Amino acid sequence: MSLALTDALNGQPDISARELQVLSAAGYDTVGDVLLRVPRRYEDRRVTKPISALLDGETVSLLVHVYGAGWRFSYKRYYEVSAGDDGEPYGARLLLRWFNMPYVAKLLATGMNLSVYGKVKVYGGKLTMTNPDFEVMEDEDAGQRLVELAMGGSVSPLADELPGQQLVHTGRIVPIYRGISGMAARRFRGLVWGLLQRLPEYVAQPGYDVAPAYPFREALTDLHFPSEPENYRKARLRFALAECFTRQFCVAWRRHRAQGRAGRVNVTTDGYLQELLASLPFRLTAAQARCVQEIREDMEAPRQMNRLLQGDVGSGKTLVALCAMLLAVESGGTAAMIAPTQILAEQHFNNFRRLLSNMDVRLSLRTADRAEDMGYVPDNPEDADNTPRLLVGTHALLYKKNRPRNLVLAVIDEQHKFGVAQREQFVSSGEHPDVLVMTATPIPRTLTLTLYGDLDVSVIDELPANRGEIVTALRNPNHMKRIIAFMEGELKAGRQIYIVAPLIEESETRAQAAATSELEKWQTIFPTEPIGLLHGRLSPEEKDAVMSAFRANETHILVATTVVEVGVDVPNATVMLINDADTFGLSQLHQLRGRIGRGQYKSYCILLSTAKNGEPGREKLDVLCRTINGFEIAEEDFRLRGPGDVLGTAQSGLGAVQFTEWLSDMRLIHRASRDAAAILLHDPELRLPQHEPLRALVAPEAEQGVIA
Ligand code: ADP
Ligand code: MG
Repeated sequence: MSLALTDALNGQPDISARELQVLSAAGYDTVGDVLLRVPRRYEDRRVTKPISALLDGETVSLLVHVYGAGWRFSYKRYYEVSAGDDGEPYGARLLLRWFNMPYVAKLLATGMNLSVYGKVKVYGGKLTMTNPDFEVMEDEDAGQRLVELAMGGSVSPLADELPGQQLVHTGRIVPIYRGISGMAARRFRGLVWGLLQRLPEYVAQPGYDVAPAYPFREALTDLHFPSEPENYRKARLRFALAECFTRQFCVAWRRHRAQGRAGRVNVTTDGYLQELLASLPFRLTAAQARCVQEIREDMEAPRQMNRLLQGDVGSGKTLVALCAMLLAVESGGTAAMIAPTQILAEQHFNNFRRLLSNMDVRLSLRTADRAEDMGYVPDNPEDADNTPRLLVGTHALLYKKNRPRNLVLAVIDEQHKFGVAQREQFVSSGEHPDVLVMTATPIPRTLTLTLYGDLDVSVIDELPANRGEIVTALRNPNHMKRIIAFMEGELKAGRQIYIVAPLIEESETRAQAAATSELEKWQTIFPTEPIGLLHGRLSPEEKDAVMSAFRANETHILVATTVVEVGVDVPNATVMLINDADTFGLSQLHQLRGRIGRGQYKSYCILLSTAKNGEPGREKLDVLCRTINGFEIAEEDFRLRGPGDVLGTAQSGLGAVQFTEWLSDMRLIHRASRDAAAILLHDPELRLPQHEPLRALVAPEAEQGVIA
């Protein structure tokens, strides 16, 4: 009976009960779990030489014959094998030594043939290898052939020279996996090898087969035990494409479904919008005006809007969203803005309240522990809960009982914290509201196509003209005296200052402690200045009070953790000092810096760091000093940190990605999207039998799991 990927590991020969436990604890329960484990890298162990040609310090694979074996003792006990490869009883010798590996003695005996891999050292005039990787050659002819091989001075791959011998750990390109606690790397490799050997000739790709011309079974072998580097590159590309296709197909499916979905016309007249624009002390930037127009056209059309609004920090996304919300309210519906945190929801609410104070619209705030309303006339039956209004809230708004009725527009201020599944709840909810998603900060192009590929995109690629310049400087903490003098000058001029405490991710309590000691430090430096303290441990009311005091210029300095990163807006603040800047992420630093330069004053971002040129953490600081373009910074962040980390996998909505290659490969993403679109064009309902796996992929239950 041949093996299938879905077979349980339990019941396979050669796996002990203890190993089953270890594997299961690491998440490996089936044959497929093991075989779809991706090698982290490969080690090319193909270089081989006869002993007579070995050089001190080189790392090679060798075929040898065991002439003698036994325990030795110098400063430590070790097991030693005297090995030769030229068939001469008194010929050239290589001494193989194993320290702290007593079990080796049980595996080796005089007369055996071995393939070994390790680093050659000359000790006391003798060629030695310490703790080499090795495998015993079972092939009876191997002894003779290895002698011929050695005599010929061959350096060709051993595996080719000894076709009867299956080399797993030596003499070939060897896969290196991420460690599994409780299991030796070599053992896991052997396990993969053993399972691969027992797989049948043909194995269907689980899910949809993206590349039938390159059979899955063959790709699996190339992935784990490639004979040439070319093979694993080819295999990884195939698997990356498969993974990419899975994502892009879901994206294409959502887009496809949304397009088929009727929506209401959610714009009638634009009186509110005009009133708002007339009351602003500034005009929309050209980019904002274009985005409002794009959104308006979507809302006017009798289909559901699914649009992403991208823009750099401070580009005025919120105002664009408010314009859209006013259009929706005027058409007779409710427009909701969902923010990722309480602070942000309250800030949006306060902002809107200010902007709309002279207008006749109803505005409400709904968060887990606060509800506030503006513009309601008590006792007016019209003001029942389903009258048109602007609603601002946290995701508490998503829960059924709070779900706004007559919702025609949902604006989701993502800050990367909402998953696709949550967004989907809105998109597909009863009345098919128009949906506008805002990103907190620009994200790389490839990620936009993956995370938001089902949305149309509007980009605000311009900052308001009234913004003061932002100067970014990298400073060593030794320069503190001059920095303090500079801050004093800004305070005298009436400006305000943010001080960001060192980044502490493990716990809010420790972050609070760091911020508190930072506060104490600055209280001694500026004893007469009122200083505020903001951290995640404060209650919403306390946070609100701290922010209000800073916004009202009652406190002149605000010491904060990264809580201050998101969306906080105080135009009079011109200095941001960031402690241990190199420990923050690039995008995070850009977000923090976006808190200043929001008024007409020239602003200063001071990055404190001891990281020297070439040290980790330094390059991103240089990027930050070089540019303030958020789109450029997003791409750089992606390049420096690699795809997996940029958004923080848990928060990104990406879920687990095995082959991160595709996340930054536009060609793969385009190809996957094209293939997906072609399938949906040809078979929009996925009725064809070959599309069965795709149907499973987009089944509602699967969708929540795969993507969220
Ligand atoms: P974002 O959400 O994109 O980071 P905001 O919407 O918070 O940016 O806008 C930042 C600040 O800029 C707000 O105080 C807002 O009132 C102001 N603002 C928005 N648009 C303009 C504009 N066209 N001209 C001047 N200031 C603007
Ligand atoms: Mg904002």
